[in-house]
Amino acid sequence: MKTIGLLGGMSWESSIEYYRIINQEVRSALGGVHSAKIVLVSLDFTEIEELQMKGDWEGAARILIQSAREIENAGADFLLICTNTMHLLAEEVQEAVDIPLLHIADATARAVKGAGLTRVGLLGTRFTMEKDFYRGRLEREHQLEVIVPERAGRDLVHNVIYDELVQGLIKDRSRQGYLEVIGKLVKEGAEGIVLGCTEIGLLIKEEDVEVPVFDTMEIHARAAVDAALGSYKLD
Ligand code: GLU
Repeated sequence: MKTIGLLGGMSWESSIEYYRIINQEVRSALGGVHSAKIVLVSLDFTEIEELQMKGDWEGAARILIQSAREIENAGADFLLICTNTMHLLAEEVQEAVDIPLLHIADATARAVKGAGLTRVGLLGTRFTMEKDFYRGRLEREHQLEVIVPERAGRDLVHNVIYDELVQGLIKDRSRQGYLEVIGKLVKEGAEGIVLGCTEIGLLIKEEDVEVPVFDTMEIHARAAVDAALGSYKLD
């Protein structure tokens, strides 16, 4: 079994779910009291969030690169950045270490295509919904069609992430707001919804939505187990 490197704390509300799912999946695959081999570096999210809001991606890259090197030096065989948004820096992080990065958008695209879908709605932070690093990867490298909410919908989805979900606040009113946004995406032709922020799965469940839902946190965590046990090939 390979050792999984987790770069987490963004936020820990989802990192704890990665840890739980990865260990559960290893136990269910190997039985007994097996558990995952994990190296975790967990950041203070306030430092990252302040840099995001200032648009200081170079400053954020310095922190992520240093953490990725710590994970590599501690013996991890491959690396996960446990947030969609910070994949904005995936290339810089990958260039700074020798171990491969398991990209969250690649794992998600594999799940979407495995379900036979080609047109998905994407929810996430404003960075994830509006910048090219994530949508572009889904579209160009995986031939998916991606639609995002209109401006007011994007604002709602983004604000609930930062004002509530990363603080562990789960509110019915916000769930209703999300379901309205999702309903519009489905009317526009989304065949499935990508929960492209690792905390959205804490608010929205599969059974809340009429089309298939792709929880990137869960997909990423399961892909890590597949990679650790050898069935998910990394470069
Ligand atoms: N965890 C979130 C994501 O998957 C948002 C927090 C962050 O900005 O990293 O994008």
